[in-house]
Amino acid sequence: MPEGHTIHRAARKQREVLAGDTVVASSPQGRFTDGAALLDGRRLEDIEAHGKHLFYRFEDDLLLHVHLGLFGRFFTHKGDPPDPRGAIRLRLVGRDATIDLRGPTACEIIDDDDEANLLARLGPDPLRADADPERAWARIARSRREIGALVMDQSVMAGVGNVYRAEALHVLGIHPSREGRSLSRVEFDALWATVCRMLADGERAGRIVTVSAEDAGMPRSRIPRGERTYVYRQAACRSCGAPVTSWTLAGRRSWACATCQS
Ligand SMILES: [Zn+2]
Repeated sequence: MPEGHTIHRAARKQREVLAGDTVVASSPQGRFTDGAALLDGRRLEDIEAHGKHLFYRFEDDLLLHVHLGLFGRFFTHKGDPPDPRGAIRLRLVGRDATIDLRGPTACEIIDDDDEANLLARLGPDPLRADADPERAWARIARSRREIGALVMDQSVMAGVGNVYRAEALHVLGIHPSREGRSLSRVEFDALWATVCRMLADGERAGRIVTVSAEDAGMPRSRIPRGERTYVYRQAACRSCGAPVTSWTLAGRRSWACATCQS
C-alpha cells in the first residue's frame, strides 16, 4: 500500500496539472458513472491529502474522496486523452492533462459530515502543516500496544506505512515491540521529527531512501535499489552488520536489528 508520501506527491503533481481547470469527468469502467456525472463540467478547485486519503474539492461544494488501498493506481497523461484502457473507475480530463484512476478502495462523493467523520478517525499527518503531534503523543503515551503497531495505526498517525515504520524506529534505536507507553517524551519527539523528515524526503524524491549518504558512501541519489534501507527487507543490518530479524506485527512484516534497537 502506498505510504503517505506517495499520496501527498500525487496530490501535488495532480494539483499542478488539473487544479483550476473545468474538468470532463467520466467512468469508462462504469462503476462510478453517477458520481462522475456530478463532477462533469465543474471546476476542480483543489486537491488535498490527509494521510493516505485524497480529497478533491470541486466548485458548488462537491467533494470527491479517494483511497487507493492496496491496488489503486493513478495514471497521468499529458496532452490529448488516450483511449481508455483497463478498468478506469474515474477519468478527469483538464485543459492539458488527463488523470485516470484504477482499482481504488474508495472513490465516492462525500458531504461535509462524511469528511468530518473521516478526518476524526485519522491521526495527525506528519506531512501536513496543520498536524498536531500532541494528538499522537496522547495516544502513544498511554498505550500498552507495541510502538510498531501504533505508528502504522492511521488513527494514531496518518501516513506512515511499513517501510517508514521499520526505518524510523531503526534510526532511533527503538525496538518495534516496545510498548507505546514506554517511550519517553524525548523519544516521541525524535520519532515525530524523524517520520516528518523521512516522509517529506520521500515526497520530494518520489521514492524511499532512508540510508544516509555517509552510511552508503555515495550520494543518496545513486544508492542502488535494495540498499536504500537499513533494516526493511534486509538480511543484515546496514548500520552494524548484525542479522535482521523479521516477524509479523500488526498484520504486516516487521524488521528490526536486535543489536541497534532495544
Ligand atoms: Zn544493527
